[in-house]
Amino acid sequence: MSYDLVVKGGLVVTAEQAIVADVAVNGERIAAVGSGLRGQVELDARGLYVIPGAIDGHVHLNDPTFPPYAVFTADSFATGTRAAAFGGVTTVVDFAQPAVGQPLVEGLEQRLADAAGEAVIDYGLHLNLRDPDPARLDEVRAVFERGVPSFKLYMAYEGYRLPDAAIFRAMEAVAANGGLAVLHAENDDVIVELSKRLAAEGKTGPQWLATACPPEAEAEAVHRAIALAGIARARLLVFHLSCGEAAREIAAAKQRGQDVSAEVTSHGLVLEQSALVSGDLRAQSLAVRPPLRESAQREALWAALREGVLDMVASDHSPCSPALKKQEQGRFDEAWGGVSGLQLALPVAWTEGSKRGFTLQHLARWMCEAPARLAGLSRRKGALAPGQDADLCVWRPEEKFQVDPAKLHHKHKLTPYAGRELQGVVVATVVRGELVYDRGDFPGAPRGQELLK
Ligand SMILES: [Zn+2]
Repeated sequence: MSYDLVVKGGLVVTAEQAIVADVAVNGERIAAVGSGLRGQVELDARGLYVIPGAIDGHVHLNDPTFPPYAVFTADSFATGTRAAAFGGVTTVVDFAQPAVGQPLVEGLEQRLADAAGEAVIDYGLHLNLRDPDPARLDEVRAVFERGVPSFKLYMAYEGYRLPDAAIFRAMEAVAANGGLAVLHAENDDVIVELSKRLAAEGKTGPQWLATACPPEAEAEAVHRAIALAGIARARLLVFHLSCGEAAREIAAAKQRGQDVSAEVTSHGLVLEQSALVSGDLRAQSLAVRPPLRESAQREALWAALREGVLDMVASDHSPCSPALKKQEQGRFDEAWGGVSGLQLALPVAWTEGSKRGFTLQHLARWMCEAPARLAGLSRRKGALAPGQDADLCVWRPEEKFQVDPAKLHHKHKLTPYAGRELQGVVVATVVRGELVYDRGDFPGAPRGQELLK
């Protein structure tokens, strides 16, 4: 029997196992994992590693941004997913962000129209609910029926943050449909207050951001999110944990048996606060919320990954133009709060993870299995087994490379990793049985599909 495509002889690594095997594909699905398999097209992967395509469960492609900006994040679905394909990423989960006052399904359909015909890889959406009107929650069921099982709720940022009562009501509505509440958890009142005091003292450089956002302000909000989700009986995923204090809240909730998960960003695991001190454009590009913290906190995050307290790693890719960074240079309180990281998330996490003794199976758990499961995509994505979508990343995890911004495929080349040596070179990326990246070539056509149910 001959299959459509066979990826031959690679070391196949999933969250469960690592074996030398052929991966056979028929149409868009994995047909078999075994030995001696033959295909119409064969991709020689001997000496290479084959993992499920990475799933970046948290990206912002052409998303509306927080005040004072009236702009959209810089990558479109076309440029962002092309960069993803070069980085071994086969699925992204972005956001539908209906405006306050806009019907939720209308906002969702608008967002789907944004991506249609543009994306090179597959994509899902969380729905960001920022309308505090209780009547809006009557539409939550319709969003589920349209196929979105996860709702993003902000505790921070004016215009996005919701009061606790609205968060609690939303969690109840999400729970009633068996969905997932996804939280940006920071105590915004305290952060705004501290930011104002620092500004009054002229302390507005990016090196002051972490002072304005103490770990306690994050841990308090994580604690509150867990408590509200507990009362509402909602499944909870907390995004971008940045400190040991917040991780301990997650650990305690898990120990009690509450259905709580947590994400850590690739930049939060790798970059440290000292990088903010230089005050240059690169430092400004690192002004993210929650902030980069000192190295002891990064080690606490790695320890939390090791213990299974943190579940997934994502890029929180939120790019902007260099002009926008320069425009706001020197003011953390006005700085663009996003880092570009989609194309490099896999090697960034692997470079530092492998130094700490983690294996590719860990990586497959954090960047394939868990994000698929939490986004409700497990029946198709995140594993490498017969019946799953044939999404593969073929790579050389031991090979090193230096980050050259010119080789990034994001719309803007601004990256905190410029010049850094990373480990893990992507050789080929397969999405539903088709090569979208192949040894420097980019045969990827815009055939990415929406992954709503
Ligand atoms: Zn984000």
